[in-house]
Amino acid sequence: MLAEAWPDATCELDHRNAYELVVATILSAQSTDRMINTVTPKLFAKYPNAAALAKADQAVLEEEIHSTGFFRMKARSLIGMAKALVERHGGEVPATMEELLELPGVARKTANVVLGTALGKNEGVVVDTHVARLSQRLGLTAETEPVAIEQDLMALLPRDQWTIFAHRLIWHGRRVCSAKNPDHDHCLLAPVCPTAALVKLAAKQPAKQPAKPPAKKPAMKPAAKKKKARA
Ligand code: SF4
Repeated sequence: MLAEAWPDATCELDHRNAYELVVATILSAQSTDRMINTVTPKLFAKYPNAAALAKADQAVLEEEIHSTGFFRMKARSLIGMAKALVERHGGEVPATMEELLELPGVARKTANVVLGTALGKNEGVVVDTHVARLSQRLGLTAETEPVAIEQDLMALLPRDQWTIFAHRLIWHGRRVCSAKNPDHDHCLLAPVCPTAALVKLAAKQPAKQPAKPPAKKPAMKPAAKKKKARA
């Protein structure tokens, strides 16, 4: 159903090769792809490869990527990653999960993005905020940690679907099943989505009547009070 809905789903970070995708993905943390795509054209023109980026001045680079947020940490990661590519891999992006995970600023999500999208290798499933949220809503996982969610998805999906499934889920999350306003009414997954079923059920429940306040005890008459005191 997702394939039908999003036949053109792909990575929305603009890039021309694996090096550019590593850079864009590191920059994309806590930011949007749209924002990153406004910053990377200038960046890729100035630092077209790992050798150029490895020589970047930290303060200048921070200024250049300031608008993406967390610019100090990202600048440090980018320069460190580029130096590691030059020193250990002849300036090229390595094609294994193990080697990618040893690069500064590269965690499993970034490694999966690069391997799946730029290098055509299904080594895992990208679990970003959209994939995590939709996998839970669709009942594909009960986990909350990305690595555990990824394990569940890898067990459910044929390996050749790992990368494309994540792209489709991300597209669906951005366009239909947003964090705050999921559009259940116009979602083609609604017939198979447990969250949609729950929402439907909740809508059918009669609205709860406000609880009645407890009945007040009638106030004792003064005479009755006296009688009670004597007793
Ligand atoms: S039915 Fe609702 S919760 Fe389920 S995938 Fe669609 S929008 Fe998301």
